[in-house]
Amino acid sequence: MSNLLRPITAHKTDAPSLELTGVSVRYEQTVALDDVSLLLRRGDCVAIVGPNGAGKSTLFNVVAGVLKPDRGAVRIYGSDPAGHVCVGYVPQRSRIDLRFPATVWDVVMMGRVRQIGLFRWPSSRDAVTVRRALRQVGMESLAKRHIGELSGGQQQRVLLARALAQGAELLLMDEPLTGLDAPSQRTILEIIGQLTADGVTVLFATHDLAQAQQHFPLLLLLNRHVVAFGPVATVMTTENLLHAYGGQTHVLTTTSGALLVTDTCCGGGEPVAPAIGVAGAAPSIMPPPAAEVVAATRPLN
Ligand code: ADP
Repeated sequence: MSNLLRPITAHKTDAPSLELTGVSVRYEQTVALDDVSLLLRRGDCVAIVGPNGAGKSTLFNVVAGVLKPDRGAVRIYGSDPAGHVCVGYVPQRSRIDLRFPATVWDVVMMGRVRQIGLFRWPSSRDAVTVRRALRQVGMESLAKRHIGELSGGQQQRVLLARALAQGAELLLMDEPLTGLDAPSQRTILEIIGQLTADGVTVLFATHDLAQAQQHFPLLLLLNRHVVAFGPVATVMTTENLLHAYGGQTHVLTTTSGALLVTDTCCGGGEPVAPAIGVAGAAPSIMPPPAAEVVAATRPLN
């Protein structure tokens, strides 16, 4: 039976917004998630960080109910993800083609498709919901514009509005700030802050450690298993970062903070100029794990 025809499951309001217990996923020879357990409450705001291949997308697929774990259980407000319409996914803008002929209003209305049902027209209630979602992201005045005519930041806000129109109470955001200018990033982060204050739970995958540390109260450091989860100060330790990023990573402690340095190529160990930050990401500077500043380099192994 298609997702569109499944009945929508009611929430147990006292249950965690998301609970994973011993979740493992394997793709043939590759273990993508290994015994992942996690418990989130309504309104939690979590950045998921970890190297490429850490299992972030797999985790999203499992939470969205499109991938069944080989082992373990996923519960959203107390029940299986498949029956929930409240899980909204906000993709990276660059991963979808926004050149199709649709207005901002049409794109946001797409978020209502499951509530509207097959072969039905949107009702006035759907229109009210779409308008409210557009207002929440500050895009109401551009409702009639073609989606392809908008700036990157505006397009990302429309994708967020689509998830809100769906009635998302658990938002999965896949690097939504990638490629956006600083003001657009700030706007989206502010909207996320308002949403979590209203009780929406947010899981935000990012490569940018500095951004995660600055804007998110909770971090999940993932490398197939949970390396660390909790408040920033307990997760962003030298030990945890070395554990998660491993390989060619060095953590340098400088007068301005701890610096994660990653060689981005040459697995064979060829000498390379080190790139600052995590592979392909903006420079990532974190405060020192301890108050005492030590000028030291600490290669792994
Ligand atoms: P991330 O999003 O953190 O980069 P992914 O969840 O995409 O990580 O991938 C985790 C691991 O699973 C990687 O080693 C990846 O190559 C592998 N993987 C992901 N999807 C598939 C698939 N459909 N088939 C086989 N291997 C996969």
